[in-house]
Amino acid sequence: MEKTIERLAGDSDGVAYEFPVYRFKGSDAKAPTAYLQAALHAGELPGMVAIDALMPLLTKAEAEGRINGSISVVPWANPVGRAQYVFGELEGRFHLPNRVNFNRDFPLIDKPDVSLLPDEGDLSTIDQRLKARLLRLSVGHDIVLDLHCDDESTAYLYVPAVLWPAMQDCAAAMGVEAVLLWEGESGAAFEEASLQPHLASGKERLESLVVTTVEYRGIADVDGATAEADAAGLYRLLVARGVITDTTVTKPGRFEGVVAPLENIDMLPAPKAGAVLYDTKPGDWVKRGDRLATIVHTPGEPGGRTEIFAPQDGYILTRRSHRITRKGDDLVKLVGSKRSDDARAGALEA
Ligand SMILES: [Zn+2]
Repeated sequence: MEKTIERLAGDSDGVAYEFPVYRFKGSDAKAPTAYLQAALHAGELPGMVAIDALMPLLTKAEAEGRINGSISVVPWANPVGRAQYVFGELEGRFHLPNRVNFNRDFPLIDKPDVSLLPDEGDLSTIDQRLKARLLRLSVGHDIVLDLHCDDESTAYLYVPAVLWPAMQDCAAAMGVEAVLLWEGESGAAFEEASLQPHLASGKERLESLVVTTVEYRGIADVDGATAEADAAGLYRLLVARGVITDTTVTKPGRFEGVVAPLENIDMLPAPKAGAVLYDTKPGDWVKRGDRLATIVHTPGEPGGRTEIFAPQDGYILTRRSHRITRKGDDLVKLVGSKRSDDARAGALEA
């Protein structure tokens, strides 16, 4: 394993950012290659600790000569967001000076060729240079995994519809509960920027690609046992796709979890501001008309509560981690079996 340090100049003199990259060299130039990154939204750590638990497995595979395709690992993808504390709270999702989401506005290129990426010297802000750098590290790999997490959630994947069902083995290997299929534009999220060069060039065999945003449960699901289980899932995926050889790992079966297009999701915006009393939690199945939550908006007064009911049968994928809400804030992701009346255009929420 080789460790290198990526360095990015900040937007003012005397400020620079660094993050490490770990590379395991493959023995077979024809084998699929993999790139894993975590904490692009800087405070989302389940993927980072999963990578920490994965590294000994990779190191062992390397020592035993079982790594076929090269693997690049970036456990801390966002040193810029990681430094953004505001009144004691980490703001790792948006770049504070320009309010741009760290997982949007990646450069889109038409071929898997890093020479097509913009010259970092021409990019005016550090978040843009970071995005160009992450693509410079990832473009060209057959498997690109971007590890995130939701608020409170079961484990799920965003997968480009064009890669499904070819990626079914990956979802099964990772042991996630659900897969959300997206198509069209996502505001140039990292996942879209990783897929675009292959789609646009039209030459690649898409079924050999793996591109996904992994939502490793909720923001507080950072613990040793879960990290070990997620690392085992990532390892199974790498074995299933031939990046690593390991005869002790069984082939993943069919994916038996929830699969739905993004348009089937109901987000249930809060009708009032107040405190949220949830009746459901991630992983629950609900029927149309079941109460999902109650908003306490005028405490102590008759009519001071407003109830929210399921608009269709479905699976509760996520809910918010905070219990105070503004009017209009989305409260859950309910995955239904048909198009939601509240279906939203385009983007991933990742
Ligand atoms: Zn995220």
